[in-house]
Amino acid sequence: MFDFNGKVVLITGASYGLGEQFAYSFADAGADLILTARSEDLLQTVAEQCRSKGARVTVACGDVSVESDVLKVIGQGIEERGRIDVLINNAGIADPRGLGAEQYDSETFNQILAVDLAGAFYFARECGRHMLEHGSGSIVNICSILASGGNENGIIAYSAAKGGLLNMTTQLGVEWADRGVRVNSVSPGFIVTEMTRPMLEALGMDRWIASRTPMRRVGEAREVTNAVMFLASDLASYITGVDLLVDGGTNAGSGTFQIPPIHHAWNADAPMVPTKYEPVQSRPDWYQALEAGIPGIHYPPPESGE
Ligand code: NAP
Repeated sequence: MFDFNGKVVLITGASYGLGEQFAYSFADAGADLILTARSEDLLQTVAEQCRSKGARVTVACGDVSVESDVLKVIGQGIEERGRIDVLINNAGIADPRGLGAEQYDSETFNQILAVDLAGAFYFARECGRHMLEHGSGSIVNICSILASGGNENGIIAYSAAKGGLLNMTTQLGVEWADRGVRVNSVSPGFIVTEMTRPMLEALGMDRWIASRTPMRRVGEAREVTNAVMFLASDLASYITGVDLLVDGGTNAGSGTFQIPPIHHAWNADAPMVPTKYEPVQSRPDWYQALEAGIPGIHYPPPESGE
């Protein structure tokens, strides 16, 4: 579907998770790669698989939140691969504790901003300067659905960082638009990776997430990859400064699908369209109280004596 022959793609956070999948897909599409993360052994394993697909691969380890590491990674990448055509700003960390904002500790807040926002900025600035000198390039930042609205997950630092990254995307998109460098972002909904596996699989939150997603399922890594590759490619040549949501309709639903629609219960004997959707099991009490309908509309109020 995509052709990245002759292009060099730098992917941060490529040692596992979404970044690993991006690496395989770009290799399949003919790209040469610069892969970075902190875990050298895992990166080498990913690199070997990419080489077996025909890609020339540079592995350059580093921490995205350490500016000198970023300079080293980019320097080594350009030295070995000659140039950088595409940057996928993917490395990120989250916080599974679910702490409310009023309890949130400054240390974790600063750490998440340092990786998810400052780290992405260091890579965008350094690769951006290189791309501007060549008059062409494409950057895709990996944001999140949590970047574009409040939510009930208790994840203030992550929301702040990803919201900042989203705004950075629009700002860089505009700043560099007339010099050949496009900057866009992809905002995935929930995808099972090392970041989310404990929450989604071990705690069973995947059913809850699916229930509040209009498509009634969590996403798959390849669905994020398709969006990333499209924005990175020349097929998106007139697109810059946009955020592409890959979220099964979550954002379009503005949260109205967080509970099973109550009219499904009221109209159970005459469903409009059959659905495979199973309502969530642990519904709030107020929902159960209203399941039989609204007194006076769906059944006579108790005091009417009817
Ligand atoms: P993941 O499985 O935890 O992978 C994270 C990657 O980032 C790893 O390769 C990790 O490698 C690297 N990384 C973490 N901290 C780093 C640091 N300080 N310096 C350099 N590399 C670092 O997470 P994922 O789910 O693939 O997430 C990838 C991106 O998608 C993140 O930006 C995340 O916020 C975003 N996202 C994910 C989801 C989801 O549901 N999975 C949804 C929305 C957005 P090392 O540990 O080897 O450094």
